[in-house]
Amino acid sequence: MNISNISVDKNGAISLYKKGDDSIFKKAQEICNSIYGNKVFLRGLIECSNICINDCLYCGIRKSNNKVVRYKLTKEEILNTVKKGYEYGLKTFVLQSGEFSYSVKELCDIVETIRDKYYDVAITLSCGLMSKSQYRELKNAGANRYLMRFETSDEKLYRYLRNDSLKRRIKGLMDLNDLDFEVGSGFMVGLPEETEETRINNATLCYELGLDMVGIGPFIPHKETPLGDCLQLPIDFTIRMTALLRILLPYANIPATTAAGTLSPTGREKMLWAGANVLMPNITPTQYKKNYLLYPDKICIDESGFECLGCLSNRVKSIDKEISFKRGDSYSFLLKEKSVVKAYN
Ligand code: SAH
Repeated sequence: MNISNISVDKNGAISLYKKGDDSIFKKAQEICNSIYGNKVFLRGLIECSNICINDCLYCGIRKSNNKVVRYKLTKEEILNTVKKGYEYGLKTFVLQSGEFSYSVKELCDIVETIRDKYYDVAITLSCGLMSKSQYRELKNAGANRYLMRFETSDEKLYRYLRNDSLKRRIKGLMDLNDLDFEVGSGFMVGLPEETEETRINNATLCYELGLDMVGIGPFIPHKETPLGDCLQLPIDFTIRMTALLRILLPYANIPATTAAGTLSPTGREKMLWAGANVLMPNITPTQYKKNYLLYPDKICIDESGFECLGCLSNRVKSIDKEISFKRGDSYSFLLKEKSVVKAYN
């Protein structure tokens, strides 16, 4: 089965794609438009630390890459960044880091302080796999959302890449769901040994997990990793997967990711065109950005994320969309039981 040949008929059934048939995109655009109109939500991404206990084969900041200059933002640096973002109108902040660069206590303290000062923002964490009780502490501290990609649905490939079991990661996602986090996951497109069947299974797993947010992006080989010489799959695969995901998960928030913008100058626009509805300007203090290179040639590392906002707004306009400064809670999350209570928690 060839994923670039997948299409969706007028009843929504997925079938093999006929050359020149763009119906998968039309369907995804129709769905995206009917739910979000032309609006694109913003998230301020703060890459808090590149310290990581893991040695994932694909990742530029893996533990054993000793060329990386390691850093860890202080609580004050994080708070100052959030303050600046808030002043610019951002209502969602994503705190991302390598695994266990902060203790749970440190993270709770940071989250609590942000929550106290900015009661109306959404706080998203993306700090890797933890125990359910640790996730509970973070939830109680005031975190609303959690992002953790499963990376690939192929158990064997997952073990090879991360020296761990996919089941553990999935269990983590289920714990987050139980604890009433808005849950995001996703995968890389074009990992070595990945087949088109894997990609379809990846999308199916997102559906089965009932994700509130789905983040995908092209795998980009990094020279300082064991996968440095792997082949790069063209951006089109990521774009087509975006459309498929929008069809499978109409109400999920789907970001147009920086990796897509890195692989192709208009990668993010293409993802938005294909059904994505979120952009994540990188508001990490500029001096640290060059040290958070998960993959090479990452865009926007020499300017502040706030300069990026103007650029993003123009990019979005080029595809007839418009930036929204709303908090942008996932409709899929709001539609779940006790939605109204949840929305204001
Ligand atoms: N420690 C957190 C954050 C990981 S970094 C966690 O475990 O969830 C965020 C994402 O970057 C990863 O989940 C992975 O999908 C992506 N990534 C890492 N290396 C990459 C590469 N070489 N190319 C593209 N994406 C990559």
